[in-house]
Amino acid sequence: MSNDQTLIHLGEDRSKYFNAVSPPIIQSSNFVFDDIASLREAILDESNKHIYTRGNNPTVEILRKKIAALEKAEDALIVGSGASAAAIAITGNLKAGDHVICIQSPYSWTHKLFTITLARWDITVDFVDGREVENIRTAIKENTTVLFLESPNSITFELQDLKACAQLAKEHGIVTIIDNSYSSPILQNPIALGIDIVIHSGTKYLNGHSDVVVGAICSTKEMILKLFKNEYMTYGTIISPNDAALVIRGLRTLELRMQHVQDVAMQLVDWLAKQEQIRQVIYPFHPSFPQYALAQKQMRGGSGLFSIILNTDKKSDVEKFIQALNNFIIAVSWGGHESLCMPFLAFHDMPGYPDHHVDWRLVRISVGFESFEYLRDDLAQALKQL
Ligand SMILES: *Cc1c(COP(=O)(O)O)cnc(C)c1O
Repeated sequence: MSNDQTLIHLGEDRSKYFNAVSPPIIQSSNFVFDDIASLREAILDESNKHIYTRGNNPTVEILRKKIAALEKAEDALIVGSGASAAAIAITGNLKAGDHVICIQSPYSWTHKLFTITLARWDITVDFVDGREVENIRTAIKENTTVLFLESPNSITFELQDLKACAQLAKEHGIVTIIDNSYSSPILQNPIALGIDIVIHSGTKYLNGHSDVVVGAICSTKEMILKLFKNEYMTYGTIISPNDAALVIRGLRTLELRMQHVQDVAMQLVDWLAKQEQIRQVIYPFHPSFPQYALAQKQMRGGSGLFSIILNTDKKSDVEKFIQALNNFIIAVSWGGHESLCMPFLAFHDMPGYPDHHVDWRLVRISVGFESFEYLRDDLAQALKQL
């Protein structure tokens, strides 16, 4: 199925709701049965039948079908956040005493899950530099059960060779999970490269309008059913039907949005790389990126997120630059309509913060729906302050 078909039509059986073009928001916690037999039948297939909204809801189900299709997965689960998607996918595949291999700089709360929560269940983790698959091979132990990847990650954009990682993990019976939020399903489909489970912070590109926190888990029918019956139902971190309708609307333009943010990011990165006040641009689809060839091999493009390292030794220069920007607002998160800047100076030397090793001169930029000229002109006047 083409992405066009998926984004505009898949999962929308309009004859069931008065031939309405847009799906209704079924804001109901539970669903009625005619008799014992039909209730019994539904309970035996709870992940597909409509019984109770913590399990399955018709509005959320439309979103579930679309996201599974976009990731070339057999099935998916929609949850209340990307953090919850990671927690369900990870804990659903671990038991006490297991060992996990995780890439060296995952998303901060994924890092916390491994180091704080899972440590209490005697689950050990090794964080390795995943740019070389040999580092992962070396870290494998007898009790390794999960390999957690994030390619690219969302600050320095380090990649892992997904095909090689998937193959290595299969040889050792290890489940592979990847956080694919950076690329969205438009720019990279890890399941097609052999990865077992894809998770998303749908808060970023999938919804794309900075008004919903949502997550997704994509995998085989068998894996999704296992997670549904256990962690998904017990943690209960669902999305509301109202929010699901917003995400369905956000998805309508996913492909258009990804095209725009990619085009503008490419132009900005090219322009920034030539400015003397910039020490380094970090973007998987810029020729200066050390893993540019691998990016071209396994991704269809870079998204709208990149980082720059300012060419200065003074913290006050970073402050001046950030304060001078008018068209980039200072905020966490990314992937919405509004262009953002995130100065890592804010986290510099913060005790216990896992990103403390990031260069304090690094500023992460998320490109929104504005034009190249509008954003470049603003960066140009702010760089003049240095
Ligand atoms: C934001 C983010 C998450 C967490 O997603 P939430 O929807 O905020 O819970 C996970 N991974 C990456 C790469 C992210 O940027």
